[in-house]
Amino acid sequence: MAAQKQQAEPEFFESGALVGVLTTQPLDRVLDYKAPEGGCWRGAFVEVPLGPRKVLGVVWGAGQGGYDLAKVRTVLKVLDVAPMRDELKQFLERSADYTLTPLTAMLRLATRAPGLGDPPSMQKIYRLGAGEPDRTTAARTKVIEVLKDYGGLAFTLKELAEMADVSTSVVKGLVKQNVVLEEDRPRDLPFPRMHHDHAGKTLTDAQAEASAQLRAGVASHEYGTTLLRGVTGSGKTEVYLEAVAECLAQGRQALVLLPEIALTAEFLTRVEARFGAKPAEWHSGVTMTERRRIWKMVGQGGAQMVIGARSALFLPYQNLGLIVVDEEHDTSYKQEEGVLYNARDMAVLRAHLCGAQVVLASATPSLESWVNADQGKYRKIELVSRYGPSVMPDMRALDMRQDKLPSNRWISNRLRDEVLARVAKGEQALLFINRRGYAPVTICRACGHQIACDVCDARMVEHRFLKRLMCHQCGETKPVPTTCPNCAAEDRLAPVGPGVERLAEEATELFPDARVVTLSSDMFGSARALKEQIAQIAQGGADIIIGTQLVAKGHNFPLLTLVGVIDADLGLQGSDLRAAERTFQLMRQVAGRAGRSERKGVAIMQSYQPEHPVIRAILAGDEEGFWRAEADQRRLAGVPPYGRMAGIVISAPDAQAPFDLGAEMARRDGPLRAIGAQVFGPAPAPIARIRGRHRVRLLVKAEKAAPLQRALTQWLAQFRPGGQMRISVDIDPQSFL
Ligand code: ADP
Ligand code: ZN
Repeated sequence: MAAQKQQAEPEFFESGALVGVLTTQPLDRVLDYKAPEGGCWRGAFVEVPLGPRKVLGVVWGAGQGGYDLAKVRTVLKVLDVAPMRDELKQFLERSADYTLTPLTAMLRLATRAPGLGDPPSMQKIYRLGAGEPDRTTAARTKVIEVLKDYGGLAFTLKELAEMADVSTSVVKGLVKQNVVLEEDRPRDLPFPRMHHDHAGKTLTDAQAEASAQLRAGVASHEYGTTLLRGVTGSGKTEVYLEAVAECLAQGRQALVLLPEIALTAEFLTRVEARFGAKPAEWHSGVTMTERRRIWKMVGQGGAQMVIGARSALFLPYQNLGLIVVDEEHDTSYKQEEGVLYNARDMAVLRAHLCGAQVVLASATPSLESWVNADQGKYRKIELVSRYGPSVMPDMRALDMRQDKLPSNRWISNRLRDEVLARVAKGEQALLFINRRGYAPVTICRACGHQIACDVCDARMVEHRFLKRLMCHQCGETKPVPTTCPNCAAEDRLAPVGPGVERLAEEATELFPDARVVTLSSDMFGSARALKEQIAQIAQGGADIIIGTQLVAKGHNFPLLTLVGVIDADLGLQGSDLRAAERTFQLMRQVAGRAGRSERKGVAIMQSYQPEHPVIRAILAGDEEGFWRAEADQRRLAGVPPYGRMAGIVISAPDAQAPFDLGAEMARRDGPLRAIGAQVFGPAPAPIARIRGRHRVRLLVKAEKAAPLQRALTQWLAQFRPGGQMRISVDIDPQSFL
């Protein structure tokens, strides 16, 4: 249908012709304007007047008409950037339809770079120089730290001063002393050429076979998705870099999505070694100056390869030939705020529209991808053994019912002895707990009161490192009180349960001669500090690593031979549809950290229920068996990936209104019933209040083939949430909080 409509539409609009412009403003329609002097192309990025303001927009097609033509305003100017291609336009339309998001919000996602309308020009940029300051001041130190945090990246004067929170004169002072270099540069330079024909590593037979299949896919210039499944360390990255090489050889662009910024440093080094140049890097840690450069260069072919976070999917690629989604099962691919989309699914959609290949790489795929591969929708390639001498670790459970722990202790004697044995041999041990902070609960010994967040229905988590209590829902913090806020008893507040910081404390006491380091996302001021810590550990700068799920993701620690999971049962307690799948993935990923070089590793899981089917499947390493059993259960229950779901959250400052609206929505469910869908709820959300807003959930379930989005749209159109009430719709929800 979309294709037909486009054929009827003109490609070029003469000056004065009526055009429909989609702006980035939160309006629910395309607005009419007159084409400017000299006319404009469909897809042109333009600046248009809206009320008293000038806003960014895209010429979406012909105008609607039907107004007094004399009152229609004229496009102010056409920006000097490549017009939006039909492929991206369609991608935004389809993803807006899929996620039930206004198109304007999708356009905002696709234009997240400042100054797109600025004419190409020279600018002064600032980067770190070799000089030393004659004297150090707090302000100067801040400037230098910011520059170091961003590696070799360049800043504008204003950007640098703002980020360091100093006046521009401080920067200028440092320029005089060569501590900061001031250079003239065209605003947006192309990225260095990448050489697809540099020699790669010599591949094993299995890797070569996998690489040949991926290369053939890319060379076909057609859409296709491949699930590249292989144990950690089997060379998946080496293999998909070959697909990138093929893509570059074809003169097309490649995008690699990574789940974690901390992973990019190691990956960048590998890319540079393989192709002789660094790719463009797109994520929240990149400066605005660099963002605009990437956005423009991607659009005009000055960037061949992008590595980035999920939003890199919305860049205006000129000729995208390959999208790799590394660690495709990772939950961070699901955006949980604003536009609720899953980057893995959207990657497949975009590839469909531009004739590109998708590679989904993982040691522990999501059940969705496993089922798609099983049903033949995706090609499947497997790498079954690790590269070189390394082998998958042995997996063992420690039955904690037989090993009584003293109170406030979480490392059993047997696990302690295993750790000691590794440290004595100069090897590393990782103790894993998936919980940030010091203790999840702070309780008053006198009255039993538990300290909760003021604006959420959540307990505050003590963070000793930050010396504060923190709410993990809203991020609110407060000092740890000395008297109970409930009964005023003094010094009776006590931490209950372990977090990563408390585990570190125990390890430090238990292993006084060992070097203990903690890796948790909230303990590092910057991405650079975290990267440095990881590099140090990899080189043997620690004996015992205490970590949250941050360490489960892809880091390579060659000396690590023991992984101890403190609480293997933790993830199984939730009622979440994906609890088993998540636990399975996480335990396998964490275990995969051990024994990545010649030395064989072992993973030991402390559990109070070692007979639980999920724990048994993890121990047995029977992945196929696990997926099949899990898939069967989901099929029987008619839930994803065999059925479709949408999560509706209604929220408001008062408690009753969302509930009343929810009840009315459940009653007037005609459009949903018409497609055989069911509504469950309303029920208070598991976290019934966040940031002072009360939350009520509805869950809609439909059959796989049902036209869910259309029915949802008709259903929702019946209701007008008043006042401060908000309705958010999450298609294929990953989180049920
Ligand atoms: P995965 O992505 O599956 O975890 P990697 O591609 O990171 O695996 O490979 C694990 C390690 O083994 C890396 O250090 C990688 O450079 C090395 N490696 C894998 N395959 C080869 C090969 N064919 N030749 C040399 N080194 C290899
Ligand atoms: Zn809170």
